[in-house]
Amino acid sequence: MATIFCEKRRPQMASVRPHVMPMPCKDEEATGQIIRESIGMTEADIPTKVLEVIFDAGQTDDQEIGDAEFIVSGGRGLLDKQNFKLIRELADELGGVVGSSRSAVDAGWIDVEHQVGQTGKTVRPKIYIACGISGAIQHLVGMQDADLVIAINRDPEAPIFEVADIGIVGDLFEIVPAITESIRRAKAANGHQACVLKPVQG
Ligand SMILES: Cc1cc2nc3c(=O)[nH]c(=O)nc-3n(C[C@H](O)[C@H](O)[C@H](O)COP(=O)(O)OP(=O)(O)OC[C@H]3O[C@@H](n4cnc5c(N)ncnc54)[C@H](O)[C@@H]3O)c2cc1C
Repeated sequence: MATIFCEKRRPQMASVRPHVMPMPCKDEEATGQIIRESIGMTEADIPTKVLEVIFDAGQTDDQEIGDAEFIVSGGRGLLDKQNFKLIRELADELGGVVGSSRSAVDAGWIDVEHQVGQTGKTVRPKIYIACGISGAIQHLVGMQDADLVIAINRDPEAPIFEVADIGIVGDLFEIVPAITESIRRAKAANGHQACVLKPVQG
């Protein structure tokens, strides 16, 4: 989204956000020289110390969205905080986690830890289901590299459909519970084994 030129100064350094690129396979043949430098510091020279790590009480997912294989995300189309229940139910059935657009975070419907996008997290799940999310560029940069994107939006012109592998035009308040219910039924018929989602051809 930005081009930065650093033509005149050396050394140069670049950093990349987690999950922006796929994890390469380990190269067993790779060689290199490890140089261990001594910096001559003792613990007493460090003025700060981590005493305890306290997790945010509002964080309800055990799994961090950056590491999740299945993400169900909700946006402003949910209309209200309590409607995130629909998103969580579907995420739970899939064994996934809840994501969100920034608008949902800004509205105070969900914690910022769930935000996907430019100022949120970059994610690369196997399946990303966007519910009531328009697909602003700032959202797309965070999720467009998912293996499979499913978008549910009542506006057929919504930009999210440009990156979706499967697009469902319709009301999320009907479609999301219907998908959750059909997964529940499939699991029950399958002795509560995890079911596999397969894209429908055609
Ligand atoms: C500097 C900057 C950084 C930003 N960073 C981020 C970021 O990290 N992540 C991010 O997400 N955004 C980010 N944004 C905001 C971004 O530009 C958008 O405003 C935001 O993504 C829109 O969120 P939304 O899609 O939930 O809401 P909207 O754009 O309002 O879209 C809501 C969608 O819901 C659909 N809808 C409504 N009702 C229903 C229904 N019943 N059924 C189905 N569909 C329905 C509508 O058709 C619409 O497409 C950033 C913006 C700026 C300027």
